[in-house]
Amino acid sequence: MNSSRLRYKHITPSSPEDIMEASMQSGMANVRKYTNRQRADQEFALGKCTYCGKEGGTSVKICSRCKAAKYCDQACQLADFKPRHKRECANFMNPPETSAFLAKPVTNQPYAMQPVFATGHVDSVGCWVSVEGQTDCDLDMLTSAFGENPKHKDRKERIAVGADKGRGTIRRYKAAVRSHLGLRVLVQNRRKDNQPILVFGSRMQVVSHGSMTVAMSRGSTISDNGGAFVGGSATRLAAGVAKDPWDKVPRLEIINVNGQDVSPDKTPLPSNIKDATDGIVALKTGEYAIFNAQFRVGDGDTIAKDWEALACLETFHIPYVIWDGASAPSALASSLPLADTNPTVGGARGPGRGLTARFDQAAVRAYYADFIERGEQAYIDSHYRDVGTGMGAEKLIQMMGELMRGGGGA
Ligand SMILES: [Zn+2]
Ligand SMILES: [Zn+2]
Repeated sequence: MNSSRLRYKHITPSSPEDIMEASMQSGMANVRKYTNRQRADQEFALGKCTYCGKEGGTSVKICSRCKAAKYCDQACQLADFKPRHKRECANFMNPPETSAFLAKPVTNQPYAMQPVFATGHVDSVGCWVSVEGQTDCDLDMLTSAFGENPKHKDRKERIAVGADKGRGTIRRYKAAVRSHLGLRVLVQNRRKDNQPILVFGSRMQVVSHGSMTVAMSRGSTISDNGGAFVGGSATRLAAGVAKDPWDKVPRLEIINVNGQDVSPDKTPLPSNIKDATDGIVALKTGEYAIFNAQFRVGDGDTIAKDWEALACLETFHIPYVIWDGASAPSALASSLPLADTNPTVGGARGPGRGLTARFDQAAVRAYYADFIERGEQAYIDSHYRDVGTGMGAEKLIQMMGELMRGGGGA
């Protein structure tokens, strides 16, 4: 990493104006997420045919394996299959169409909500990896709550219990350091043999570039889930899904299964989910799950922003098994390959398989270029400020109110 590059101040809002600005920015981000999902849903509903481009077909057919292509009718589907779609479908060219993972910009937006920074597939199982960051691109701290886990409601009090003990824990776990990179990951089964798979979300790992191992190691602690190993003639660091000393569960959530948002406190979990805490999901052919998870990559100093953490990474790993539908997930977990113990992924030892995705650093730099070159305001303006053409202040305030009352999808 270039040592002469600009550093950015981490501003903790102190004045009422700062607080207003900070909440406005996060509010803007939420409104943009909300409006983009609405817009994407409308665009999907139009049913533009992948083959002939005609809009608004009434009997729309969707490719059952990838859910990424749709057609006016069977004639268009057949006409597209041999010359084009067969290959695109098998090569995981596009993720399934869902507003929970917008890998392409929706109309009038310059950037995708979920830019794809890594993608890969093996044996007809594939994944797409995007970032799940904050508006200011700061990495996250262990002391902050993760996701919508209702357990986190009393988190502040629990961390504060026994002031000295709390401080010791925070120091030992480097819990107040901006070091945790959030990723959003979509995994899909496209197997032709219709065998279900079991995906083990809490076994996800990110692996450093050989040249970034030392930098990434600066932020690590003895409590981390992962370690150094030699791979491809370089020493690398593998980091697993983070845990914190208070909750002791993986900082991981299954946020969507097959297009349905998952909200454990509101609705029953989809039957695909075998273990919500450990992120174990069963997927039949065509089915997919979306995870949010955090990994300790940063050190709070030279690696404190999303793109600085992403620049450390070469690959992403997630293991799965081809499932007989009966074996207990816990009995299968021991056969799962890890990036640092079995770098030859997709091997035939036991039922465990490894899926690897390589990070695309050019895509990372392009997405964050405004911030890197021109600063935070330029980035926010291009990524969050445009919340839709012709939306007046009144509509904006109404929408933010709806979001605060939990009326909108985030
Ligand atoms: Zn058509
Ligand atoms: Zn397909």
